[in-house]
Amino acid sequence: MVNLLLEEPLKSYDQVVEILEKYNIPYTKLAKDWQGNFIIATKVKSDVLITAGAHGDEHAGVVSSINLAIEGKHIVIPARDPAGVNGFIYALKFLLDKEVKSKDYAYIIDLIKRNADWYHQSNEFIVGIFGNIALCAMPPIDPWKGEDLINEVLQRELDKDERLREKLEGMRIIMPANLPYSEGVDLFDRAFTSFVINGRVENYNSLFDIPDEKIPYDFKKLKEFINKISPKAVFDLHEGFGDKFYAFVPVSKEEFNRDYDEIFRKIKAELLRNGLKYLTVKEALNELPKERVYAYNDEREIAVILHFGKRCRSLSCYAYKELGAFSITFETGLKARFKERVMMSYIATKTAISSLNLNS
Ligand SMILES: [Zn+2]
Repeated sequence: MVNLLLEEPLKSYDQVVEILEKYNIPYTKLAKDWQGNFIIATKVKSDVLITAGAHGDEHAGVVSSINLAIEGKHIVIPARDPAGVNGFIYALKFLLDKEVKSKDYAYIIDLIKRNADWYHQSNEFIVGIFGNIALCAMPPIDPWKGEDLINEVLQRELDKDERLREKLEGMRIIMPANLPYSEGVDLFDRAFTSFVINGRVENYNSLFDIPDEKIPYDFKKLKEFINKISPKAVFDLHEGFGDKFYAFVPVSKEEFNRDYDEIFRKIKAELLRNGLKYLTVKEALNELPKERVYAYNDEREIAVILHFGKRCRSLSCYAYKELGAFSITFETGLKARFKERVMMSYIATKTAISSLNLNS
């Protein structure tokens, strides 16, 4: 197995910056987020951009990208949403300006209720407004659905309540990861950021097709930076279903060319060589939401989901369509051990870069 410098979850976003400084990796500050953290990109001449942490609950991608940043070969944005690394309890403390004495769910819901400027509750679901930020929480009914379930309920509540829609429009909504059994993530250790735009729940990786006047300041700065560097290849590290590796590519079946095919053949071989597993199309058909189009028809092949068509809202799609970049979103299953997840996206990214032969 490859040995990585960093294989453990981080405690806070400060550590991300500290590690880069420790290894003398220069970086550019892109924007200050609502907690005062700087979103950063490493300063290096490269055609490759590696990003992680758009979804704050997908922490292994962040740790994986820091390993790649330390190597100093490519431009890395280790955490697109620093507040996600800091987690939900941190956000709560930050907004309430007081200690959070217990991690008991009922206590936290009560705390939001008692301290918010305004709140909306529906059974165990709560959303409370604190200035221009909202906190949203709901105990996990399914321990593996995480924030997905909170976002679903949030959308349902928005759909039926006009006043709630008015109150939350344009607002940043912070919620807990809600994955009690996922190593390095847990119930509250990471936070997920949503936005309400035109009454719809959006997230940090679904804003690329939204007009500039409606997107948050920090996101706009990140987008400007990506436009400026105009990378030839973009790899965005995410985490998702199951306990194995899979990927999204923003192209149609006709556009899925030899380069992509070759990369995935190499990634499969490298993962297996390191004792790691990839999700097959057959497994994906059973575990993932339906209506997905896969690059390979053979059910024993690696699950590479093609996302194209209606909205082009992710970084991966934007980089491909607007910047002409070669682009992949890597996914590691949140049910796997943390160390394995870090390794999976590290290996996939390195393999893809060397396969493309971009200034490596
Ligand atoms: Zn994600």
